[in-house]
Order: sequence, then structure tokens, then C-alpha cells
Amino acid sequence: MGSTNKGEEAATDQSPEADLARSGPRVRMHPANSQLQSPLFRKLSAELRLLIYEVVLGDPTRPMHIVLYDDGSGRVGRQRCEDMECPYPMWRHKCFGIYKPGDGLGVRHSFTPSTRDGLLALLLTCRQIYSEALEVLYAANEFHFKGPRGIIALYSCIPRSHWSLIHHVHISTVFLSPTERWENGVHSGHPSEVYSVWDRGCRSIRCLPALRSICLDIIVWHSLKESRDDPSMISDQTLIRILEPIKAIEAPIFEVEINIPIPHSVLRSLGPVNFTVAVRRRPYNSTVFGVR
Ligand SMILES: [Zn+2]
Repeated sequence: MGSTNKGEEAATDQSPEADLARSGPRVRMHPANSQLQSPLFRKLSAELRLLIYEVVLGDPTRPMHIVLYDDGSGRVGRQRCEDMECPYPMWRHKCFGIYKPGDGLGVRHSFTPSTRDGLLALLLTCRQIYSEALEVLYAANEFHFKGPRGIIALYSCIPRSHWSLIHHVHISTVFLSPTERWENGVHSGHPSEVYSVWDRGCRSIRCLPALRSICLDIIVWHSLKESRDDPSMISDQTLIRILEPIKAIEAPIFEVEINIPIPHSVLRSLGPVNFTVAVRRRPYNSTVFGVR
């Protein structure tokens, strides 16, 4: 899968290739041939066909990473997780590419998303299957994002009607404090997060009316390496700046995993929230994956 980020132009693209971000020829949704010559439609009920679609298009054990190409093109790809045993934060999965030693940052990865996994082959079979199975493609997968840039890219290049079908989301990222230094700007590497980009990503997630579960694993560090692991160096304002944009996200299951405790003063400032919080410090090899 690979796609250029074409914004509104792509937002009207109804092709199966556009799903999960790949441009391609348009497919008219109606009218579709009933395909009764096929045993799939003649002999199987719609419920049984749905089960088949879920087996082919979904995977309850291996999430789907949405990955930006590292070539600056804005293209976004998909990668079924191949690093489930990784003890590090999700954004450290090798699924996002291989670390290129010697670039001095440790944050840039070479990545070529797989487009030959045949995931979309079933959808491409005929319009009848496409119309029946499209929702399953989005509903039966858990979409993993390394920070908000992948969210924004996918949101920009698939139709809004398809985006709204997503049911399960996981976001993994790193924030540096103080916030002023990282509020704006553009850098292609990750980590760390740019707070204004975080806002945009959260706004896109709030446009998911069918969202059933969302999990965030968040690391918050101080910019100074010698103070990096000291929670007392992280101000309330930083945590509020991170958590405020997610307050309006609604999902029956909404979990935030964070590496430092959230002070009561922060929770009081936030007011009622929809998420639960778990404090967990995952291992992190800073000599291999540096943070600016
Ligand atoms: Zn993975």
C-alpha cells in the first residue's frame, strides 16, 4: 500500500485501492451485479459471508500499523504487526522500519510498506463483495499509529465515510517538556511529538463515531537528558497540554498508559475525563533510539 496525500481530492475516491491509503481507479458502488451465478452469493447467507470477510480482512491478534514513508512524500502505508513480543513502546516496533545507524539521531527508519500481502484482493473481486466487505476492513482491524502524523495522513487520503468506520485505535508516542520548545514546527523524525500536530491528530480521532476502543501509550520526558526520568521535572501544564486534546474523544474502552503518575492537580484541572490511566514505564534503549 502506498498513497500520496491528496486531501479532499482523495476524500471522494471510492476505490478499494484508496482504502487503507492507495490511489486507484474509481469503483461505482451502485448498481452492483447480484452475482447469483457464484455459490458465494447463491448458497451462503449474508451472515456467513460476513464471517468469511472478517477472517480474510481482519486479524484479532495482529494489529495493523499505519506507517508513513520516510521519503518525505507524505505517502502512508500499512503493515500487519510482526513484532508483537516487543517490550518497548509500540512506536519502537520493527514494523515501522529498520533503524539506520550513523544518522546521529536514531529516529529515522527506512521503511517500505508491504503492498503484496493481498489484503485488498477480496475487495477487488467485484462490486458486490466490495459493498458488503468494506466496513469489515475498517471495523475488524485495530489501527496502530506512531504519533499523530500517520493519523493525519490516513485521514487525508481516504474518504470520510470510510474513516468513520474505524472501530479500534492505538496511538504510541513521546512528548518532551517544556512544551514551548515543541509547540510548533515541522520535523520528519519521531520522536518527539509536536504539540500542534498532536492537536490535529486528536481532532481526526474525534471524527470516529463508531470508535469502540482506543489505547494511548505515552512517554513524557524532560528535554534535558539528565532530568529525563524525573517526573518532578514535568509541569502540570505539560500534562494538561497533552491530555486536554483527548478529553473529547469518546469510546467505550479508552485507556491511557503513561510513564509518570498524573498528579491530582492535573486531574482537577482537566475535569471529568473519559479515559482510565495506567502508569507503566516500558524499557527504552536510548543509545539505539535517541530522542532529540
Ligand atoms: Zn508491530
